Amino acid sequence: MLGKSILAVYPHRGRSSEVRYAPPIGLEYVMAAVEDLVEKITVVDMRFEENDDLARFLHGVDTVCVSLNWPLGPTAANGVAPEFNLINRIPPGIFTVVGGRWATVNTDVIFENCPGVDVVVRGDGEETIRELARAKSLDGIEGIAYRVDGKVQRNAPRRFAPLSEAVYPNRALRRYDYRVAARGIDFGFTLDMVLTSRGCPFRCKFCASHVDDFGRRRRWEPRSPESVLAELRKVDAEAVLIADNDFCIDMDRVGAICDLVLKEGIRKIFALEARIDIARRPDVLAKMDRAGFRLIMFGLESACDASLEVLNKGFTVANVRQAFEVLRRYRFILGGFFIVGNIGEDAGDMLRMSRFAKELGLDFIALSYLRVDFGSALEEVIARHPGYHIAADKQHRVWSDRYPLKTLRRIRHAVARDFYFSPHMLRSIGRALLSGDVRLRHVRRFLGSALLLAAAGLLPRHLARRFRRLSGRR
Ligand code: SF4
Repeated sequence: MLGKSILAVYPHRGRSSEVRYAPPIGLEYVMAAVEDLVEKITVVDMRFEENDDLARFLHGVDTVCVSLNWPLGPTAANGVAPEFNLINRIPPGIFTVVGGRWATVNTDVIFENCPGVDVVVRGDGEETIRELARAKSLDGIEGIAYRVDGKVQRNAPRRFAPLSEAVYPNRALRRYDYRVAARGIDFGFTLDMVLTSRGCPFRCKFCASHVDDFGRRRRWEPRSPESVLAELRKVDAEAVLIADNDFCIDMDRVGAICDLVLKEGIRKIFALEARIDIARRPDVLAKMDRAGFRLIMFGLESACDASLEVLNKGFTVANVRQAFEVLRRYRFILGGFFIVGNIGEDAGDMLRMSRFAKELGLDFIALSYLRVDFGSALEEVIARHPGYHIAADKQHRVWSDRYPLKTLRRIRHAVARDFYFSPHMLRSIGRALLSGDVRLRHVRRFLGSALLLAAAGLLPRHLARRFRRLSGRR
């Protein structure tokens, strides 16, 4: 049904602050699932393309697959979204498939506003796209929606399938250089991503990692250490971001992966997310340190026990302090995610996060707002707290009568300023430089890119934007 040639498109999000250092790994895993069933796959990352015109990629293409994985914003319900413009420029006659989390939840909106879309893939895409490639008819294919006589036909949700042990992205298909970068400055390291598990067994109230795109509870599904190693052997990049919700759910598995990395002499800098529970396994932490698992980010969320309880984090501030006593003994670069605007917190509680982060010895922090993700239990929690509201914006941010979003933004900046403009950052920079991972070529690239960015700032705005957009193309 998909023909011989597929064009897979990761659209431009249309925001100047768009993050674009990481490959569209979800789309690449889905395409890997059909690689043996078609003759040609081209993956286009529109974040690096000069304009949103797909025409130059469409010659000989039978099927276009578009990923819509992020919130498109409230205007999408009325048919206004740059992503729709891109889809609606695909010529008739090309089979058009749209997938991703947003597409799953907003299937009707897509069919209403994109007349050329043939199929919406709902939920995990790997098995579905494979079945589509082999099928002669859409009847009975689980996890898809399509039009029948002008009405939307939704087939049954796809049954859960384990993560494939053998299917992973073909890096040779990449057309772009993905590099560790922030705010346009290149840190000198090439970057790739690997997914080693899916889901999470914990139940933090604001998070939807334990449910699939249909809101069904999903089990945590790991790949075996051998399968992870087979993929790592194909990765050229110096830095690998592990895309799992939590890489360290099973520390025995982590230990086995470290053993294989060390045995095979694979030298990478790994970055991952974990819970503080990993501090209970110093034996595995020592292996992680030796195997290059360098940057670890923890969802700490708050410096108040009451908030941690409301969010169902399963630990207290005292537990966090104890865990970091252990974690600081290794060469890890430690990061913490915090939330501004937790229920019941006043400005003093929020501002205290910076002091808490410094006390823990964190090297960096990332601050976000409390947000209601599809499938999370936070909406019910908000409903039980009068004076708290959910904004009608892309991210469904939570605000309160006492702390509107404007005030929360000011507090967020104040916390970041207090943390980053502080002498302890010199210690963090020193630790990173002395870790043995940073080479002269990285420093040269960093300085070169900072200079280029400064030079681009002198260009007229449209040329500067074009320069930034094209800078990652091969
Ligand atoms: S926040 Fe982290 S630990 Fe909590 S449910 Fe989500 S992925 Fe799991």
